[in-house]
Amino acid sequence: MTARVLVVDDLEPNLKLLEAKLRAEYFDVMTAYSGAEAIERAKTDQPDIILLDVMMPGMDGFEACRILKSAPETAHIPVVMVTALDQQADRIAGLEAGADDFLTKPVEDVALFARVRSLTRLKTMTDELRMRYTTGESLGVVKQIEYDEDNDVPKRIFIIDDQEEQIERLCANLNEDYAVSSETDPEVALGRARSGDFDLIIINMSIESMDPLRLCSSIRSFEETRLTPVLAIVRQGDTRKLVRALDIGVNDYLTRPVDKNELTPRISTQIKRKRYIDQLRSSFQASLEMAVTDQLTGLYNRRYLASHLSAMFDRGAWSNRPLSVMILDIDHFKKINDTHGHDAGDKILQAFAERMNASVRGIDLACRYGGEEFLIAMPDTEKKFATIVAERLRQEIATEQIVLNGGRDIAQITVSIGIASTEDGPEDDNSQKLIKRADEALYEAKSNGRNRVIVSAA
Ligand code: GH3
Ligand code: MG
Ligand code: MG
Repeated sequence: MTARVLVVDDLEPNLKLLEAKLRAEYFDVMTAYSGAEAIERAKTDQPDIILLDVMMPGMDGFEACRILKSAPETAHIPVVMVTALDQQADRIAGLEAGADDFLTKPVEDVALFARVRSLTRLKTMTDELRMRYTTGESLGVVKQIEYDEDNDVPKRIFIIDDQEEQIERLCANLNEDYAVSSETDPEVALGRARSGDFDLIIINMSIESMDPLRLCSSIRSFEETRLTPVLAIVRQGDTRKLVRALDIGVNDYLTRPVDKNELTPRISTQIKRKRYIDQLRSSFQASLEMAVTDQLTGLYNRRYLASHLSAMFDRGAWSNRPLSVMILDIDHFKKINDTHGHDAGDKILQAFAERMNASVRGIDLACRYGGEEFLIAMPDTEKKFATIVAERLRQEIATEQIVLNGGRDIAQITVSIGIASTEDGPEDDNSQKLIKRADEALYEAKSNGRNRVIVSAA
């Protein structure tokens, strides 16, 4: 994987050194000599990652970072602050300015490539999600993401280490913002990692009862932990093992003995990224649900029905089990609107949907098929049973009074229902034909006087 890296430093030798290292690993490198130039280049050239020096005359790295992170064109580009080794406070300040990570000078190769790779991999993923978002937004089915950092929820960390004392030493450095669990047996740890829903897994790469690289690769391959960040702790000089671990997909590392000032920022950047991705995913999921849901009634909409009913139909045909469908249409709804007003009409539709939803089973699919038309698909259901459900629902609707305008108005509706079942139509080879027969039964119910259930004849 190659990436476009923008390196920012006011000193030519620093710039050249980083450029040479990155080019040797086949990264595309661009350079800038000041914060202002960096912002300009970031906007026009859209790099995949920015390495930003802190100490620069004029605008320093922190200010440049804040500007980059607040402009919509550049906010999504990961920024790594390059700080002097003795400036611990700079790391915290960098993260507060919105930086995604930091490197200390002199920059070590392994650290450089680990952070650049991990951040560009992450960017590939968020770019993909952001792109789906943009598509969704332009289709009008996806709402704007609202990212809020949930600081109240404790950050769940899982430490895997076969040395109890080392676990204790790590824990001593973590405050009450973290909920820490640990496991000394790597086999047991694997199971616990899968069911624990952790925000971060810390692995001691010197464990002996199992190959730590195998442990990392298992964690990467299980569905439940595939995206959980992993922080490796390696012995000084264990570079080969570290490089393998990073190749496998370990997100970041610390060298032992663990520097407390390094531990917390590393943990917090990893967790921050994970939570960002989680939110991106879940709000995308929520938006997709919105796209298949009718806004007024909360039932599935016709778009969803179209894709789901044919699957239901095929499953029924394959398992030789009957599928019944009923279409429900409120009688004289135009008149209801005229009498009570359109807003009251909406309330009535909501009340109807609620009543309908309450009378179906979990496996049934209830949806809003049109304005005042609804459809219920009942898998594994004979028409005899569907008719009982329909008749009961019709009676409930016909006797229930719907209270409107805080009791000042009362509405009464009736419904006509048409039913069709695959029992009667062995020649039907798709769900559309089933719907058509239910529709014909409904038409019959309407012309026979409404407020009744008609079952499509064999
Ligand atoms: P029928 O008994 O033959 O079904 O008569 P109807 O008046 O119910 O049927 P028609 O299809 O002629 O009219 C449906 C009415 O439903 C017209 C439309 O204004 C109303 N309607 C459709 N969608 C909505 C909605 O979302 N809210 C409200 N309040 N009314 C709606
Ligand atoms: Mg109608
Ligand atoms: Mg109607």
